[in-house]
Order: sequence, then structure tokens, then C-alpha cells
Amino acid sequence: METSDTIIIGAGAAGLMAAYKLSEAGKKVIVLEARNRTGGRIHTISHESFFKHAELGAEFIHGDLPVTLNLLKEANIAYSPAGGEMVRYAKGQFVEDEALIPNWDILLKKLDDLERDVSIDEFLQTHFGGDEFTVIRDGVIKYVSGYDTADPKKASSFALRNEWNNEDDDAQRRIDDGYCSMINYLADKCKGLGNVIYLSSVVNRVDWKHAEVKVTTTAGEVYQAKKVIIAIPLGVLQADKKDKGAVEFHPPIKQQLQAINNMGFGAIIKFLLEFKYAFWESGDTKKLAGKRLTDMAFLISDEKIPTWWTQQPKNSALLTGWLGGPPAEAKKDNTTEELLQQALQSLSNIFKIDVEELKANLIASNIINWTTEPFTRGSYSYDTVASAEARKLLDAGVDDTIFFAGEYLYDGPAMGTVEAALTSGQNVAQKLLNL
Ligand SMILES: Cc1cc2nc3c(=O)[nH]c(=O)nc-3n(C[C@H](O)[C@H](O)[C@H](O)COP(=O)(O)OP(=O)(O)OC[C@H]3O[C@@H](n4cnc5c(N)ncnc54)[C@H](O)[C@@H]3O)c2cc1C
Repeated sequence: METSDTIIIGAGAAGLMAAYKLSEAGKKVIVLEARNRTGGRIHTISHESFFKHAELGAEFIHGDLPVTLNLLKEANIAYSPAGGEMVRYAKGQFVEDEALIPNWDILLKKLDDLERDVSIDEFLQTHFGGDEFTVIRDGVIKYVSGYDTADPKKASSFALRNEWNNEDDDAQRRIDDGYCSMINYLADKCKGLGNVIYLSSVVNRVDWKHAEVKVTTTAGEVYQAKKVIIAIPLGVLQADKKDKGAVEFHPPIKQQLQAINNMGFGAIIKFLLEFKYAFWESGDTKKLAGKRLTDMAFLISDEKIPTWWTQQPKNSALLTGWLGGPPAEAKKDNTTEELLQQALQSLSNIFKIDVEELKANLIASNIINWTTEPFTRGSYSYDTVASAEARKLLDAGVDDTIFFAGEYLYDGPAMGTVEAALTSGQNVAQKLLNL
């Protein structure tokens, strides 16, 4: 049986950051990862002729995020601003100068005045319930579903207020060689410091008592350590114990599992469609949109697959589609072929191009439904009204032996992000080193 100071389950950003910080401090660490790759919800794909550094998972650095940017600086990894223009399409036509959500300032003011946390749906019903507010209500619901990938009936108004008051739309960036270069840096550092990362190691059982853990994989391998960091996604922790990827604790940690189940985990489907040429820049689109869409970054529509973006400011014929929240959850059982058809139909409706023509122009597609990925089971966390309490309990760990790390444990404004995961990994490592 292999032994170490600490076992880390999950080699995503949180697990690898914790592994790096512990390795740096001279600790012996074993990382066990279910997939045959590191990175988790960071998954950059590259081919010779298409999908160069295309991101199936995380893609943007959403603002001046200190932990991410410091790590990239330390690793000497280049990143660039993601510029471009936001284009709107609604009710069958391109629309100019229409705010995504009208009266946003009034909405934020009402949120700032809120004294008791309630779901955003309840907040809207209470403060914007009348027919005259239908557009605001629909806009917020779509935004919470689409961007936060959350269920508005569960998402905390306080957490969204915190996020919206700290948004920095002007500072979106992409990593030039893809987010995986950051993951590779962390993994290489751990290995360089003498530690190991075992891939294709699906953990299904943790036996523990004070200062002693035995971790078992589905292949029957057993690893022993004084402590364990559980760095698997919230969606997997919430899974039924019979589900692939689920981990059983002996003795059970009922209070922690209850806290985990009180937190929110969203749903997402991401569509990568690479075309022979950027058809949205053509003269035909100019007739529809009133201008050539050569600077288009984001396209927000009311189609079935509503959100699309280009690789602006880079020249590229890759279009990325995004469907989040309850509408993505509802498509859990759709086949890839059905999803592709819906994506092309949405583009066909917007650009008035026949689906068959779009198909003929399509070089490659990769559609990933993260909700059906057994080792993720959703998109990223969102705060419910109960999340703050749950996080406090989980942050405390169990008997100085079981610790948790992951984006869902972060309580700053960049919730659900890579920054959140890295921060959590860094914090948990520090906690172990302080013991
Ligand atoms: C489609 C999509 C787009 C996103 N876009 C952005 C973005 O633009 N910017 C941004 O900042 N964030 C984005 N995010 C969020 C970001 O990717 C995550 O918040 C972050 O990567 C989570 O890191 P983590 O380490 O907490 O979890 P993960 O990356 O999920 O890592 C957990 C690891 O645990 C492993 N695991 C699971 N079960 C087991 C088991 N039983 N045994 C062993 N290992 C197991 C998994 O395989 C995985 O590798 C996006 C997420 C998605 C899904």
C-alpha cells in the first residue's frame, strides 16, 4: 500500500494548486484523478488544422483576478485581452443599443437595499412582480440561467448582488496557448518536486479516523495518508452513492454531505463549431445587421441555443455556443446529433442561412454536455441561500483529517471560476501547513 502525508482526490485547478503548494513546502503528496487527463473542467483541445487551443471548459479570465494572474506571471504564461463587440438579436432581427436588462441600475439599488437573503426568483416576484416589469424579470432570469448557469428558484440574491457589483466586463482575457498550459505548469511542478499524479484512478471509498485515511479506487488500489483533500466537483459529491464517480465515506460524514446538498450546482452545454470561413462577417449579414460583424465578440439572442461568441480579436472561424441553467438541464438526454441540429437551427434563424448550407460549411464540431460527464455532473456552483453556512462547515474540514477544496468553497465575487478553484486549493494547502 502506497503512503504519503496527504492524498488529494481530483486533479482539477483546486486539487493541483493544493498539490503544488504542499509539494513546494516539502510534503509528500499523492494525487488521484479519475480521468485519463488532468485539468477537470479545464480542457483545451488542439488539432493541426482546426480547434487550435479551443476550450471545451473554462475559457476566460473574468477580470483582474489576483491568484490566476499571479500564477500565470510566475509560470511565464502569456494571455491576451478578449476584445470585440456585443451584438443583440431578438424577435427575428438584430437590435441596436438595446440594454440586455433594462433598468439595471434600479434593479441593483433594490438588491443593495435587500436585508434578508432570498432566491433571485422570489426577489423579482416581490420587487418587480407587475406586468410592466416582465422584460426585466425575463432578462434577469435568462442572465442567471445563462451566465451563472443557475436555477433562479434557488440562486441567492445576496451572492448575485456581490457578483454584479464587482463585474468588470472590460477585463476579459484568454490564455494564448489555452488554460491547459496553466494546468500543465502546476502538474509539472508537483512531479518535479517528487510527487505523483495517478490518472484513471476513480476513487470510490474513503475510510478514515483521526489522522489516518485509506483511499480505495474502483480498481481496488488502496492508498494511505494522514490527511485527504477532497477536490472533486460539487456535482459529484451530490451524486447518489450508486453513481459513477461517487465517493463513500466510512464512517459517514452526514453533516458535511447535508451541507454539500444544500449548495447549488448548475448545468451547461458548450458547443464548438468550426466553419470553413467566418460567415457572420459576410456582406449578406451586413444587410441583416446593418453593418459587417467583423468585430463581433458575443452574440446574445432569444434562440434555443441563445449565446454565441467568436475568438475576437483573433481571426478565426470558430463559433462557440452556450446553453446554461435549467434549459441545459432539460436537454440532459439529447444526443450530440440532436444538439448539433438545434445549434445549427439557431444560427440558421439568426443569419437566415439554410441549415444544409451551414452544415456544408462546417469543418468540425465538438459539443460537450458537462452535466452528463460522470466526473463533473454539471457546470459550476452557484450560491443558494444556504451556501454561506454550508461553506463554513466544509471549510472547517473533519477532525483535522478530511479537507475539502474546489471552486464551490470560494466566497469572493468571482464565484464558479478557475480563480475560485485556485484560491480554494491555495487556502486548503495553507490550512494543512498551519496544522
Ligand atoms: C463549460 C464551462 C465553461 C467554463 N468557463 C469558465 C471561464 O470562462 N472562466 C472561468 O474562470 N471558469 C470557467 N468555468 C468554471 C471552471 O472551469 C471551474 O470553476 C474550475 O475549473 C473548477 O476547478 P475544480 O478543481 O474545483 O474542479 P474540476 O476542474 O472539476 O476538478 C475536479 C477533478 O476531480 C476529478 N474527479 C471527479 N470524481 C472523481 C473521483 N471519484 N475520483 C478521482 N477523481 C475524481 C475530476 O475528473 C476532475 O479532474 C467553466 C466551466 C465549464 C464547465
